[in-house]
Amino acid sequence: MDTETPIKEVIEEIKEFGGDAVKYCYQCGKCDTVCPWNKVVDFSIRRLIREAAFGIPEIELEEVWRCTTCGKCPQECPRDVKQADDVVAMRRIATEYGVSSTLLKPVRSAAASLTAEGNPFVQDRSKRADWAEGNNVKSFDEEMEILYFPCCYVSYDQRLMEIARATAGILNKAGVEFGILGTEENCCGESIRKTGSEDVFKTLARENIKTFIDHGVTRILVSSPHCYHTFKNEYPEFKASFDVVHISEYISELIDTGRLEINGEYPKKVAYHDPCYLGRHNGIYDPPRNLLKAIPGLEFLELPEARENSLCCGMGGGRIWIDTKMPERFSNLRLEQAIELKAEVLATSCPYCVDALEESRSGLNYEEKILVKDITEIINDLT
Ligand code: SF4
Ligand code: SF4
Repeated sequence: MDTETPIKEVIEEIKEFGGDAVKYCYQCGKCDTVCPWNKVVDFSIRRLIREAAFGIPEIELEEVWRCTTCGKCPQECPRDVKQADDVVAMRRIATEYGVSSTLLKPVRSAAASLTAEGNPFVQDRSKRADWAEGNNVKSFDEEMEILYFPCCYVSYDQRLMEIARATAGILNKAGVEFGILGTEENCCGESIRKTGSEDVFKTLARENIKTFIDHGVTRILVSSPHCYHTFKNEYPEFKASFDVVHISEYISELIDTGRLEINGEYPKKVAYHDPCYLGRHNGIYDPPRNLLKAIPGLEFLELPEARENSLCCGMGGGRIWIDTKMPERFSNLRLEQAIELKAEVLATSCPYCVDALEESRSGLNYEEKILVKDITEIINDLT
């Protein structure tokens, strides 16, 4: 940002971009006590909010880019300051002023790739449905029960493709008439919006909405809580509402209606990690737990920071594109919590969380100690 930019103008911009609530902060510091960053580095969201209230946030520093929008401090704030929204407002200013740094290079590259190819990896759009080959997955048509929208990570990342394949396996075994949009899908846009690239988000959202309407989509099944969140809570800003269901809810529905049965046993100790965008942001805590608890032989373990107090994996708020030094990763702490409980498997229900936990598992040489699984991978093997 131009250092001559008048403070009043910055305050107005923060307000315009959705950060007006910074003015209510009375510096009690409750936010800092719950923020996961304070387990690994010295970081103060309270200080950042104070700077924003005075119109002097240092938008070129990493501090503005740390927040994972995990939602933990907003639920503690006595003044409803909406810290995650305020941080996104600061990032929108940084994007508008063209702030660039080594830290932000991958974010800018993701934004360019999202605009060109609909995915953040600089991968060909034509490869988006490659994961589905040989998995009995059809193209969606409007006679079908449900659209499966896998998400970019599940479509392109070799490890995370296992989640899409397990999901297709479950749907086929339950006899669900489902299809995908393949090359016509775009990223849902949730994460890029949290980095302040509002224009990129709007383009992706408008294109997806048009595609859904053109294909007669009414019900959308998602693997990612990030897709869930943005389709359910943010696409209505464009006057478009769809019936969105997360896979953990949908499997429960299939079991409850007698379409899917769990047959095998899973004689392992399994801890469950709540993804921020499934739990805190959308209140879905019980469906994944109930599924795991219903599996014969499985011993369910509750982690120390669970449900509303869940420890973020570190990948939300666009941090999935920002390199986090190995000792600073929250996912390391999460794995250690699970190992401490003597869990053999750490299960979750989000591709971003699986990615973070797998990276920690290999970075810390815990491959022999614990497995990381999406719940779909466990259930597909037992149906
Ligand atoms: S919890 Fe709310 S009021 Fe207290 S310091 Fe944080 S932002 Fe300010
Ligand atoms: S939303 Fe989460 S990561 Fe962001 S400042 Fe609050 S507690 Fe920290």
